[in-house]
Amino acid sequence: MAKIPIQLQTGQVEKSKTKKDYIIGIDLGTTNSLVAYVSEDQPKAVKDRSGKHTLVPSIIYFDAQGDVIVGEEAKKQLVRHTDRTIFSVKRLMGKSYADVVQMRDFLGYRIIDHDDESLVRVAVDQRYYTPIELSAHILRALKQQVEWHLGTSVTKAVITVPAYFNDTQRQATRDAGKLAGLDVLRIINEPTAASLAYGLNRTDHKTIAVYDLGGGTFDISILRIEDGIFEVLATRGDAFLGGDDFDRAIFDYWIEQYNLQNRLDHQKSYSQKLRLLAEKAKKTLSKDDIFSAQLDGLVLSISREVFESLIESKIDRTMCLLRQALIDARLEIGQIHDIVLVGGSTRVPLVRKKLLKHFAAKVHDELNPDEVVALGAAIQADILAGNQKNMLLLDVTPLSLGIETIGGLMDTIISRNTKIPISAARNYTTSVDGQTNLKIAVYQGEREMVQDNRKLGEFILSGIPPMPAGIPKIEISFMLDADGLLRVRARELRSQTEQTVSITSTYGISDEEMGKMLIESIRYAKSDIAQRSLVEAINESNAILLASDKFLNNNADWLSAQQVQKVKQLHDQLLDAIRQNDKDSILRAQEALNQYTEPLAQIALEKTIKKAITGKKI
Ligand code: ADP
Ligand code: MG
Repeated sequence: MAKIPIQLQTGQVEKSKTKKDYIIGIDLGTTNSLVAYVSEDQPKAVKDRSGKHTLVPSIIYFDAQGDVIVGEEAKKQLVRHTDRTIFSVKRLMGKSYADVVQMRDFLGYRIIDHDDESLVRVAVDQRYYTPIELSAHILRALKQQVEWHLGTSVTKAVITVPAYFNDTQRQATRDAGKLAGLDVLRIINEPTAASLAYGLNRTDHKTIAVYDLGGGTFDISILRIEDGIFEVLATRGDAFLGGDDFDRAIFDYWIEQYNLQNRLDHQKSYSQKLRLLAEKAKKTLSKDDIFSAQLDGLVLSISREVFESLIESKIDRTMCLLRQALIDARLEIGQIHDIVLVGGSTRVPLVRKKLLKHFAAKVHDELNPDEVVALGAAIQADILAGNQKNMLLLDVTPLSLGIETIGGLMDTIISRNTKIPISAARNYTTSVDGQTNLKIAVYQGEREMVQDNRKLGEFILSGIPPMPAGIPKIEISFMLDADGLLRVRARELRSQTEQTVSITSTYGISDEEMGKMLIESIRYAKSDIAQRSLVEAINESNAILLASDKFLNNNADWLSAQQVQKVKQLHDQLLDAIRQNDKDSILRAQEALNQYTEPLAQIALEKTIKKAITGKKI
């Protein structure tokens, strides 16, 4: 058994001075992944065994025996073994087959419709792998790499994900960590990590843009940092725009310029060789003005000027998305103080040039753009290890969370853009006498009716002691942790009946879908609100009708026939109005019934009081 040193005066656990318990930071990327840790207050990216690279290509190769190779060696197999070399796993995380089927051609390997509701699977020979298992292979390789480097075992990690990742995608990432033997202490947003690496959290308040151009994806995030708290104001991006497109632009240019179509048709491996050379040319042009090399006896060259003309429209598109993100965040260009460059493709000089031209902000490129996310994750890990005081990290929830109430209404418990972690609770009651069960259906979205939102799950609070409608006090609490994972608890306060569930939805939504949900919530706002007030009026009327029935029953002994008749008539008028679904006439009928019964209710109350007093025989 391990001994834990405790400071007797303070009761605090003392940190062991001999063996350091490292918490590592991992950037699990679409194209490349890497691991970093903090040593003597400095974050350091870990090199692989060759001592050359910190980046590990996020590629997994399964050989015929089912053995697994990850990284550079796996990347080499991409040419010959397309069907057993898996790349871009991150695009599949938390997704169902239906979510990703349109990417089938792009992926090259086989994806399987295992079952509609659950995660998509990747087929290699006769085996099926979930994206979680595949990501776990990458994480395991990183874990081994850092353990080899440190000479000690490592079990705790912080892993980064894109800001737009939803609950399911975050949970999938966390599960992958677990599968790789890592205790994932926190999932943090990539842009947040990048800004941490630049120490931008140490300012009072700042609004920054994180511009992340990777191998295949572009992400822009607008963050507000206030007193060390990060808030994601907006995210935009393009899931198919990145360095790969720049390679392809050079590739296509060479084919045309040197008439290579013939070679391409006749030599199978030529295409891949040309592609790799194109990437090399691109990287060279980040520092030199011209690139030239021989391939199969032919000299291929390209100048930076030509290269820039080929990719300019792509880079302009990123500028456009950045502007749109600013509009989403309701900010003017001048309100952005800093732009942080992330991703290997921001090394392309034209990116920096354009940013400087269009924005007045300070552009941060001092740190290695393909390491900066992992470095930030390592800093976060160090904060969690308690080595950096006074630091707190917070993100926000991108969509509102709530439950369904009577009539299919969405009742928001945690609203969109709330800083997390957060817990919030609301009280509800039953609508039927003697009700012992209550169904709690949890939804995500901005629309007024749950049918227009996304259902995350449901459960039943059972064992409520039978009580008249409206008497039970049922508290529903939502606890959203720092990773954006939701726990829902329902509790009947009078009897302490309780039920808790963790909500992890069955499959994810894409960021486009999320965007669509937000846009629709605005588009339908007016009709949604009308619909909500109608449903609310109906709900209230039903309660009033129930109460008036009860009233007639309980007071039959003294009400005159004429009074009973009148109540019944107004009751039926309200019922009619409800059937017609017309809010105004419902409200009028409600009013009429209320007005007539109010004085009667007063009399009934006085009678009850009198009875109670005489009953007690004062
Ligand atoms: P991801 O975040 O998608 O995993 P990275 O941030 O590692 O990806 O970026 C990978 C991309 O960066 C690749 O397309 C690679 O060619 C490109 N890249 C790396 N170094 C350079 C460079 N010096 N100049 C231009 N592009 C580069
Ligand atoms: Mg990245």
